[in-house]
Amino acid sequence: MRYISTRGQAPAVDATEAIIKGLAQDGGLYVPEELPAFFPDNLAKLDYAAVAKKIFALYLSSFSGREISNLVKAAYNSNNFPAGEVGMVSLGDSEVLELWHGPTAAFKDMALQALPHLLLRSLAKSGGEKEIVILVATSGDTGKAALEGFRDVPHTKIIVFYPEDGVSQIQELQMNTTGGENTRVIGVLGNFDDCQNGVKQIFADQELKRQMAEQGYYFSSANSINWGRLLPQIVYYYYGYGRMVAKKRIAMGEPIEIAVPTGNFGNILAAWYARRMGLPVSRFYCASNCNNVLTEVINEGTYNRLRPFHKTISPSMDILISSNFERFIFDISGNDSFYTGRAFELLQAEGKFYIEAGLRAKYAELMVGGYAEEDECRAAIRDAFEQYHYLLDPHTAVGYAVANKLRAASPGGDKLLLVSTASPYKFPAAVLEALGKLPEGREELALPAVLAKLSGTPVPKNLAALAALPIRHQQVCATAEMTEMIRNELGL
Ligand SMILES: *Cc1c(COP(=O)(O)O)cnc(C)c1O
Repeated sequence: MRYISTRGQAPAVDATEAIIKGLAQDGGLYVPEELPAFFPDNLAKLDYAAVAKKIFALYLSSFSGREISNLVKAAYNSNNFPAGEVGMVSLGDSEVLELWHGPTAAFKDMALQALPHLLLRSLAKSGGEKEIVILVATSGDTGKAALEGFRDVPHTKIIVFYPEDGVSQIQELQMNTTGGENTRVIGVLGNFDDCQNGVKQIFADQELKRQMAEQGYYFSSANSINWGRLLPQIVYYYYGYGRMVAKKRIAMGEPIEIAVPTGNFGNILAAWYARRMGLPVSRFYCASNCNNVLTEVINEGTYNRLRPFHKTISPSMDILISSNFERFIFDISGNDSFYTGRAFELLQAEGKFYIEAGLRAKYAELMVGGYAEEDECRAAIRDAFEQYHYLLDPHTAVGYAVANKLRAASPGGDKLLLVSTASPYKFPAAVLEALGKLPEGREELALPAVLAKLSGTPVPKNLAALAALPIRHQQVCATAEMTEMIRNELGL
């Protein structure tokens, strides 16, 4: 399997190179040259690791069966996912796929426990004596999940940039208490888009790249621009479908609808790829919070990033530049790199691009955008708790609100798979406030215990342990200083 750039100006590479590089040198994203067909009869009988092995094998043709088997075992074991890899809960006629039973209580663990192993194997196979510097821009959850994935992994350093005032207190503490010799966490005086832009500029800095190469350092990315981050996400949807069949919620082959709370468009793109590979999906709900840039471009065709940025109670979705939307445009345009490149250059230069009606018609029945205002998100949290005694985190609540709204507007849809992206215990203040149970004047750190008492569910172990951990990172920088921070870190 070869990987090509969405901008068409970089050579095709194999999986190892796509994963090591993260981003193609023409600024595009690597995508597989073709999407293989996959829909095994025994899907409902396969456990998570078995599904992962089969899907990885389709895309990592330069890896042996044993290599794939080893890396799946290293990522998806009971040590990393003690409460079972993935849970599934029924709420009315929807199934909620809980992807947050990993070390950092967000769905990003599912991919970021696999990525370091993918990267190390790729490095070993490419035969170079490289030190990889993983640069991460995070809106809160990727940072900690990547830090846990790469902590003390040989031949890697990981540097995480997060918006200093744009993450929850628990998210910040999770990152700033991370151990490991090879980890750095830096707060940026800006929002997530500033962090992501800064990282993209660092990637494009040829002089820096040259100086790094002299010292044997190479950059890579743990963001979902990296194919090694996206591939593990395709597994969720097959596994979730298999579980729905096993639970007799659907018959094998019956189509389902999928709702995904979306920020960078990585998770929902993996679902889209699953359908292109043969998973029966009749509709996708791309759910946004009031930073609803994706709702507009999907439903009306205009991508306009020149708009006010809102800080919400679902901070991991506070994004105006959804990188993976580029892979979606590439796919729906029939792998048209000229079209895709021009659209994203326009987005960069002028802040906007437009998708013609003809192209939109190709996905309009399938991919629907919707967004939830803050009050709708809070109402969703209340609704799920009152009706089902089930706690939704604010991100999943956006998905729940949007799917319910759109499904009510056009009834008769297929059964719904709602992706749950974080534990409610990562955002206890927002959840308790929505439930009208926020005690006055308590630190956010004291709130998980309050939520546990109210719901009768346990606080995830790693979050409960946070308060006792020492702070190990407290650097802060301006957006314009990000490159300088890297130079200092690497002694350049
Ligand atoms: C990252 C994240 C999202 C958004 O996922 P994308 O793949 O960036 O669209 C949604 N919810 C939570 C909790 C997240 O951490």
